[in-house]
Amino acid sequence: MSISNYTFTMIKPDAISKGLTSTILKDITDAGFIITALKLTSLTKTEAEKFYSIHQDKPFFDDLVSFMTSGPIVAAILKKENAVEDFRRLLGATNPEKAEEGTLRKKYAESMQRNAIHGSDSDENAIIEAHFHFAEKEIYSFL
Ligand code: UDP
Ligand code: MG
Repeated sequence: MSISNYTFTMIKPDAISKGLTSTILKDITDAGFIITALKLTSLTKTEAEKFYSIHQDKPFFDDLVSFMTSGPIVAAILKKENAVEDFRRLLGATNPEKAEEGTLRKKYAESMQRNAIHGSDSDENAIIEAHFHFAEKEIYSFL
C-alpha cells in the first residue's frame, strides 16, 4: 500500500459546535474515502502550537491556536487512491469565499479561520499528522 493512499483530516471546533460532524463524515465517505482511524478529541495549547508550527510566524497564529483549542475536534485518517490531492479538492480553498461550489468549505466554513475542516497538504505531512493523533493500534490500515 503506497503512502499516497492516505491523508489526515480534522473536523474543527466550529463545525463540531454546529452539529455538523456526522454530515461531514458522510460527505467524506460518499466521496469515496475510507475511514481507517477516527476519534473525538481535543488539542492542548502546546499540541495546537506544534501541529501548526509551520505557521508560527504568521499574524494569524495566536488566533488560530485559540480557535483550535476552543472545543473538541474529530481526527481521522482517510484512505483513497491519490488521497491528499483528492481530499484537498473536496475540501476547497482555505478562504471559503474562494472555495468552489460543492466543496466542504464552501458548504460548511464561516470564515478563513473558522473553516470547518483540515486536510493534509502532502503525503509527508499526512503521515506526520496521522501519527501526531493516532497510535499504531488505532489505525486500521486493512480497511
Ligand atoms: N488561517 C487563518 N487565517 C489565514 C490563513 C489561515 O486563520 O489567513 C487558518 C485556517 O484555519 C487554516 C489554517 O490557519 O485552515 C492553516 O492555514 P493553511 O494556510 O495551512 O490553510 P489550509 O491548508 O488549512 O487550507
Ligand atoms: Mg495547510
